[in-house]
Amino acid sequence: MRYLKIISLLFISLSILTCASSPTGRSRVLLVSDPEINKMGADAFKDIKAKTPIESGARENTYVKCIANAILAVIEDDTGVQSWEVVVFKDNSANAFALPGGKIGVHTGILPVAKTTGQLAAVMGHEVAHVLARHGAERISDATIMNKGMGAVGAASGNNSAVMGAIGAGAQFGVMLPFSRKHESEADILGLEYMAKAGFDPKESIDLWKNMSAMGGSKPMEIMSTHPSDETRMKQLNEKLPDANKLYEEAKAKGKNPGCKL
Ligand SMILES: [Zn+2]
Repeated sequence: MRYLKIISLLFISLSILTCASSPTGRSRVLLVSDPEINKMGADAFKDIKAKTPIESGARENTYVKCIANAILAVIEDDTGVQSWEVVVFKDNSANAFALPGGKIGVHTGILPVAKTTGQLAAVMGHEVAHVLARHGAERISDATIMNKGMGAVGAASGNNSAVMGAIGAGAQFGVMLPFSRKHESEADILGLEYMAKAGFDPKESIDLWKNMSAMGGSKPMEIMSTHPSDETRMKQLNEKLPDANKLYEEAKAKGKNPGCKL
């Protein structure tokens, strides 16, 4: 009887945490709840802020936040985040990341790579998409399953660097868990949609990947770790461009013109 109770409790808690499908319709199992992973993201971000010099220049901050706010204004965030925090870090590495809990970090080193407003919007859209699609929770859940059902919350506690890597703070914590091809592809599709809805020309996403491609071995951590070749992702983005262009035209018709300038 007691076992039955435990089993049914387990079943109930699993069914609460299970998410039937990703934003693009992939079926998956999530063993970490939004409040849990939001806290992990917020804690990691606090740590990163303590360890990394923050760019206080008004020019960079106004520019980055202008783009971020335009993107954030069009997303549908159902992860329980009240407001997003955007920080520009004084770091020459070409990196940008978003963490669960509504956190966006942009290194000054990405500005010479994402050369235009639209290109930086493509980067931020892609990173925010990883968060909204709960890719971090999915990665932790996969790892948890591989570890023979070790409790997700147990694994996540204690500033575990593998968990930090899973939620997307890998570059800062020394463990980079690569986003899989399916996650990259999903983040590309969603990111393209966000930037278009925000009024950024979606074809700039392809220019961004051309620049990334030209960087060779010195690509940003998150980008470097991914499986799809630059050609594959540019091909996919090209395929999605007609749909994104419709959203872009609609956005422009509604008067959306972010006009952010560095
Ligand atoms: Zn990615």
